[in-house]
Amino acid sequence: MKYSIIIPVYEESGNLELLRRKLTDVLRTLSGSYEIVFVDDGSKDRSFEDLKLMAKSDGSIKVLRFRRNFGKSAAMAAGFCESTGAIILNLDADLQDDPAEIPRMLSKLDEGYDLVVGWRRTRHDPVDKRLPSKIFNLVVSKWSGVPLHDFNCGFKVYKREVLAELPLYSDMHRFLPVLAAKRGFRVTELSIEHHPRHAGRSKYGVGRTLRGLLDFISVLFLTAYLARPMHFFGTFGVISILSSFITGVWAVGLKIAGTNFVNTPLPLLTVFLLLLGLQFILLGLLAEMLTRTYFESSGKPTYHIAERVNF
Ligand code: UDP
Ligand code: MG
Repeated sequence: MKYSIIIPVYEESGNLELLRRKLTDVLRTLSGSYEIVFVDDGSKDRSFEDLKLMAKSDGSIKVLRFRRNFGKSAAMAAGFCESTGAIILNLDADLQDDPAEIPRMLSKLDEGYDLVVGWRRTRHDPVDKRLPSKIFNLVVSKWSGVPLHDFNCGFKVYKREVLAELPLYSDMHRFLPVLAAKRGFRVTELSIEHHPRHAGRSKYGVGRTLRGLLDFISVLFLTAYLARPMHFFGTFGVISILSSFITGVWAVGLKIAGTNFVNTPLPLLTVFLLLLGLQFILLGLLAEMLTRTYFESSGKPTYHIAERVNF
């Protein structure tokens, strides 16, 4: 199998038939076999019945159904596990992403990139969605060092090995470009056509931005410090203990000069900083133990090999 198109579906009944038609029109022009994997993320509308009907008349359409709504990340992970294509394409089911852009996205892969992310330059979404998203993208691109404009675009094309190494849980699909880039994959973006939602309503509200930013803190921490948490906590610990040393010496100096301990906040600060610093160091040690347990019990390496020659 060359291409696996993986589409998360949550109550998208009104979109599926048109999506199938547009998709197959484009996919038939490609050279290479393909499969379309729809993952029904616990829809309560007719989505699954529609999909089953489609699959009956077209063997390249495959359908998974979740027992309940597990979220887009889970749907994408399931589709990935059950698919076999060497190249994975993700699109949203609501026709906001245009299947006609698939050949351009694929040609970007031929240039040697491992992951191509769509960039909805002119976005057809309400402003209460566009604005938080803009802030989210600015923060993430600045802090992650991955220079993209639209991390959360549902339209992505990548080689299978990109996701094979990445865990997809919670809402982590949003950070696929960051996680991939941090592992050394070549990531780029391509400006694509974007449309208003064809039918149905959006599944996400404003709460998504806050959750996204919280997740981003985890991603930053995990990508940089998963294998060496002591470097993170220890740095704060050492800074804190050194500061407590300075305030302590200062307090003693003041005492010698005649200022009583009760007349300055420095002794209190000294104790506070010392305890805080020790806590950080202990936390770092605990985290180190967790990390060892994680890597050693799962047999996971802390590195990623891209190619092997003569093995
Ligand atoms: N989706 C899903 N599970 C969910 C929420 C959404 O599979 O819990 C799918 C949804 O069916 C669509 C895609 O994720 O194919 C993007 O959702 P939506 O269009 O509502 O997001 P928006 O474009 O408004 O950001
Ligand atoms: Mg949408």
